[in-house]
Amino acid sequence: MTGTLDIAIQKVQNSRINQVDFDNIPFGKVYSDHMFIADYVDGQWGGLRIVPFEHLKLSPANAALHYGQSIFEGMKAHKGDDGSALIFRPEKNAQRFNRSAIRMCMPELPEEIFIGGLDELVRLDRSWIPDKEGNSLYLRPFMFAADEYIGVRPSLTYKFMIFTCPVGGYYSKPVRVKIETKFVRAAEGGTGAAKTAGNYAASLYPAQLAGKEGYDQLIWTDSKTHTLIEEAGTMNIMLVIDGKLITPPTSGTILEGVTRDSILALANDWGMEVEVRKVTVTEIIDAIKTGSLEEAFGAGTAATVAHIAAIGYEGIDYELPPVETREFSNKALLEMEAIKRGKKEDRFGWIHKI
Ligand SMILES: *Cc1c(COP(=O)(O)O)cnc(C)c1O
Repeated sequence: MTGTLDIAIQKVQNSRINQVDFDNIPFGKVYSDHMFIADYVDGQWGGLRIVPFEHLKLSPANAALHYGQSIFEGMKAHKGDDGSALIFRPEKNAQRFNRSAIRMCMPELPEEIFIGGLDELVRLDRSWIPDKEGNSLYLRPFMFAADEYIGVRPSLTYKFMIFTCPVGGYYSKPVRVKIETKFVRAAEGGTGAAKTAGNYAASLYPAQLAGKEGYDQLIWTDSKTHTLIEEAGTMNIMLVIDGKLITPPTSGTILEGVTRDSILALANDWGMEVEVRKVTVTEIIDAIKTGSLEEAFGAGTAATVAHIAAIGYEGIDYELPPVETREFSNKALLEMEAIKRGKKEDRFGWIHKI
């Protein structure tokens, strides 16, 4: 409950929900009725409010537009059998949000505001959580510099906001990925571990080039040697080789995914051998050639598990085992989805119920 937070609420006059075709929801284009806002002014957070979803009025000299102090999070809410809203591990996102804020020289946001704002917004727009199997309400908290000032320095004012979008099924087509050995997403000492706008802007051009070669996504390698696997665009990479679950350790260049952490916990719980260690490109290619690579997938909130169908490296495409044969990732996907929807006991205490 959010009894301690003082949130002013202005409701919409007429909900837009009847205009939405819940059987055909384009990702990220449909917004529910309300949004949450908080302002950082004079060194503190205040002005907590929920208002109808609407456009913002910004100065052309808004600092975030020019210098990129902007961070975000992504989560999903599902509808439980009793009609409650279930959010998956939001405190992990709140903590990561603050790590991103520190790196981008932005003010931390009290966890009560992050979680309390989410609670109140999701409670108000509860009917926007799709009922349909597989669908969910995507939650997008973000913060950006609000100063009207042209000069490179940390902004003095910020806006924190949350809006939500009903989204379609989690099932995604297996992806063809290319191991990127020229461009980099993140370098040591850089901002790779922060969920900050510029990281994604920097990835667009290399991803577009790979798209022209027929790949859906990139797998980034380390910036110095291009021999170590890092992660994909918005997913962490996991492999099953010889029955062992293997994933690179998070570091300054790899984002700490909540999905990654949860899948590692499941694997440990199931008694699977888990190795969190550096993974070389050569090891993966060799494992594909000898047939010891059993599974490869991306882990992230959007798809939970995105199977990798093929890996391209130095002009050669290596096809991976058929998706039906992938025991661990299929089981992990089903288990994660069942826990998120309250269909399986929440034995790790992951579910935040509203
Ligand atoms: C958001 C994101 C992930 C996945 O994190 P989740 O918390 O599992 O959604 C992985 N890598 C990058 C670069 C991301 O932005």
